[in-house]
Amino acid sequence: MPDTPNESIHRRDFMIASVASVGASAAFVASAAHAQQSAAPAPGSAAAATQGTVYTGDVVQAKKVISALDVDDLEPGKKHAFYFQGVQMPTGQHWYVSVMVAKGARPGKRVALVSGVHGDEISPVHTIQTVINLLDPAEMSGTVLAVFDLSRPAMEGMARRWPNSGRGVDLIDINRVFPGNENGADAPTRHAGLVFDRLFKGNVDYAIDFHTAATGMDMTAFHLARMDLPEVRAMAELFPIDQIFDNPAYPGLPANAFIDAGIPAFTPEIGRPRILDLDMIPSFVEGTMNVLKHHGVIPGPVGRTGKDTDIFIADSMFPVIATHGGFVELLVKLNDKVEAGQKVAIQRDTFGEVVAEYTSGVAGEVAARHTDATCEPGTGIIFIIFDGATATGGEVLPE
Ligand SMILES: [Zn+2]
Repeated sequence: MPDTPNESIHRRDFMIASVASVGASAAFVASAAHAQQSAAPAPGSAAAATQGTVYTGDVVQAKKVISALDVDDLEPGKKHAFYFQGVQMPTGQHWYVSVMVAKGARPGKRVALVSGVHGDEISPVHTIQTVINLLDPAEMSGTVLAVFDLSRPAMEGMARRWPNSGRGVDLIDINRVFPGNENGADAPTRHAGLVFDRLFKGNVDYAIDFHTAATGMDMTAFHLARMDLPEVRAMAELFPIDQIFDNPAYPGLPANAFIDAGIPAFTPEIGRPRILDLDMIPSFVEGTMNVLKHHGVIPGPVGRTGKDTDIFIADSMFPVIATHGGFVELLVKLNDKVEAGQKVAIQRDTFGEVVAEYTSGVAGEVAARHTDATCEPGTGIIFIIFDGATATGGEVLPE
């Protein structure tokens, strides 16, 4: 949308944020900001990332609230916990993001571990909590920046999308809007911009954005990773998991925004949504610890990797799409090898009549399945990854 009457409001909001960031109350300085500010840094500018950690003065449940992070000014050899002040709610309070920084006693690489971009994907939270608990900052060279609930309103509702109210009830997938925009047209886009500009930028050399399958789906131990990027490949292969889908998928993913900013990144998918998958989480903890060892952040030998699990790497995905509504019976399990032409699912109507039979169009491995038994026409039922000449199907990736 071109400039609108809202432009001045956007500008004012940004100036308030800028002035508040020097420690004053946003409410107090609102009018002064309007009159005095003339050179607020542009969103995403280097100025936003190098101003030092900004404490708002608020304390919530014994955690200090910050509106900008600069890991350089945190005390070394310690773990630090904060609430990062995200975008405002419709009532004027802020959505906070839970952040921990394990800052090593010595300088080194800085790694971001991100979860909660989708609010119904909980195993990633437990994975990162476990990693943080295993870290001893006194033994570390470098920094681990952990985020647990990036899309907090989605997590409050155990939901994939952020519920916003700009034009009546709306649901926005924040996993499509990164790197965001502090002056964007809706709150989740602004929130993504605040997080990217003021929490990540300037603090991160490598990033891992953990997910699971979407609600109603099931998935293998899986990465979405750009294997054409050597630094991404080196990290992705350090996980003792089942499969890697070598594909950029969508624009607007945090991993792609990080890569565009020069920060190698990728997207693990830890099985099913909504649960703590205590069988699968340890493999992702081990892989993450391997990454930290690979970058010299923590000492010790690398553990099991993708070599030990005979990881299957494929660059293409064949989605089996429902042609009818009805009840789906799946004939294959996760990680099953399938042949082209193999029947993988059948579908019945309410009278029990078979309305469709589905076959795989390729030889490959089952990566994800639709576990809700009913589905509409157009729903992806089974996702088969295979090594093909052309990478297609990203639009129906079941992340
Ligand atoms: Zn997700």
